Amino acid sequence: MSLRALVLSQGADRKVSGAIETLPVDRLPAGDVTVAVDYSTLNYKDGLVLTTGGGLVKTWPHVGGIDFSGTVETSDTPAFRPGDKVVLNGWRVGELHWGGYATKARVKADWLVKLPASISTRRAMAIGTAGYTSMLCVMALEKHGIKPAAGEILVTGAAGGVGSVAVAILAKLGFTVVAATGRPQEGDYLKALGAATIIDRKELTEAPDRPLLSERFAGVLDTVSGVMFARALAQVKYGGAAAVCGLAGGPAFPGSILPFILRGVSVYGIDSVMLPKAPREEAWRRLGTDLPLDKLDSMVNEAGLSDLMALAPRILKGEVRGRVVVDVA
Ligand code: NDP
Repeated sequence: MSLRALVLSQGADRKVSGAIETLPVDRLPAGDVTVAVDYSTLNYKDGLVLTTGGGLVKTWPHVGGIDFSGTVETSDTPAFRPGDKVVLNGWRVGELHWGGYATKARVKADWLVKLPASISTRRAMAIGTAGYTSMLCVMALEKHGIKPAAGEILVTGAAGGVGSVAVAILAKLGFTVVAATGRPQEGDYLKALGAATIIDRKELTEAPDRPLLSERFAGVLDTVSGVMFARALAQVKYGGAAAVCGLAGGPAFPGSILPFILRGVSVYGIDSVMLPKAPREEAWRRLGTDLPLDKLDSMVNEAGLSDLMALAPRILKGEVRGRVVVDVA
């Protein structure tokens, strides 16, 4: 029994190189479930692993891919049976543990979620970690009590993976979405996903000169951080909230405490990687009902294992639109 994988090695200069190799199945890491992988994806974090390792990978050679979908082949636990359709996001798979850029993966059963019947393995990876994280952000804003009537929701990094899916989910749920993008040429794409208003990223990239700006947004879904997040936070309405998941614009943000203590604004940090199983299952269940699948299909770019080394620097530069689905066959 063998598998095909994109095997990564790191040179003395930290630069990562990749080659597609056929390996015996016993090279797979320990785990209680072996999955025949159908699809994986390319996320921002995968871009780091494929270019420099990003400090995320500890041992080489390595197989990347922080998420995958497929069919259970063998299972040492009654929780999964051969034939089950499953998805995996995070748990540091593709970083510390071999990931989805292979035709087979072996993982811990606790890391797998059974797919809702309405989501095929291909669509599961069109959603991917980006889309599942979007849903976690939306769930945080909902839990805060924000309803469509409360007003506009700002999505930053809107043409990226997390942003695109977030726009589509929020619009389907009836929210008025303001999509901030540095790529105004993607305006039609974002409108088709359901954005009501497109704003140029430049409007949010000047550090706020005052700690509080005019109140505008009922909620913010931020994938960028940096000045954009500081500026967005300064415009959240009294009692509103932001769900933050990303740092495409760098980790630091030049913010003020005043939105929290004068407007009662809340910030919800979203981590998709180590999140316990119950909210993961809830997020996937919600994706099965609240993500318009026709919109999802319009976000997808197809790729194979052989395309990944070239695509990786592009996602780090913010040049990839929507979601990349990797057919590992
Ligand atoms: P993408 O690269 O697909 O999207 C990021 C988007 O951010 C880009 O498309 C671009 O959008 C915008 N952007 C990029 N660079 C900059 C910049 N310098 N300044 C302002 N905007 C910028 O990545 P993903 O959507 O997959 O991920 C988004 C972020 O979320 C990443 O930081 C990722 O690490 C993080 N993430 C976190 C997770 C978690 O568990 N917390 C899980 C998944 C992702 P546009 O062109 O529209 O402006």
